[in-house]
Amino acid sequence: MITVKKKELLAKEVGRLKLQGAQIGFVPTMGALHHGHESLIFEAQKMCDAVVLSIFVNPTQFNKASDFETYPETLEADLQRAERLGVQIVFMPDVEEMYKGNLVVNSVDYGPLTHSFEGQHRQGHFDGVVAVVRKLFEAVDADCAYFGEKDLQQLAVIRRLAQEEFAGLQIKGCALIRDVDGLALSSRNVRLSQEERVKALKLNAWIHALKHTIEAGRSIESALESILTAVKNEEGIALEYLDLVDPENFEPRRSGTDRGEAYAVVAASVGGVRLIDNCRVLCS
Ligand code: AMP
Repeated sequence: MITVKKKELLAKEVGRLKLQGAQIGFVPTMGALHHGHESLIFEAQKMCDAVVLSIFVNPTQFNKASDFETYPETLEADLQRAERLGVQIVFMPDVEEMYKGNLVVNSVDYGPLTHSFEGQHRQGHFDGVVAVVRKLFEAVDADCAYFGEKDLQQLAVIRRLAQEEFAGLQIKGCALIRDVDGLALSSRNVRLSQEERVKALKLNAWIHALKHTIEAGRSIESALESILTAVKNEEGIALEYLDLVDPENFEPRRSGTDRGEAYAVVAASVGGVRLIDNCRVLCS
């Protein structure tokens, strides 16, 4: 495994692999790696000959400075994990290498996809995500890029970006990985106390309650109303949203004409730690 900090060297190394006929799989991360990230690497290894993993905590996608400043960093352990997993190249640029002194990013308008839910509650978040992923895609020049369904709306935004600007690149969505207790794995989970962690499990419980109620035949409106009533009485959890959406455009799903696949999505803060979760719901 080699680690690379400069785009120029990365391009050389990727070019060398491509000359040998290797298909390149790209897994972008912000580090503090866990089994969720590992599953993306495994998916990439199934289809590709070589995996490029990036580790870069992107300042432009954080809407709160405190979240950026306290974002966990475990670089040594990450590199050991990547090596053990058989990653070929780790790209770990610094902010200067990625942004060349200009941290102002263009705003992105993909309609509700960039302006609802995460886009609404984290102003400018997707502008930063698109800016950094565009730079990473240009730098890595991969055949396939792997993203987790944990960040479902991000995945839809990236699919749109690729469709518009990176025609030859395949975007692969990978299943959300949970801890044994059901909590969606996230690098931020290390910031939860034991007590907060127990509260955080409610997010998973709520979206699954919504799923089971709707799949049992109750209307979406009525299922949402009863779950939101229960959620309001919950102490220590600051709910941002809990809803049912179309996973492609993030428009809310309601009863009536809408049929087929939808996702229950939730975002909330527990002890100041912002968490998101989702699960698939089959609407009849
Ligand atoms: P992050 O380092 O949090 O920016 O995440 C890097 C990539 O890993 C993104 O594509 C995430 O969606 C994905 N990821 C993070 N957590 C999980 C998880 N629990 N299950 C699956 N993918 C995940």
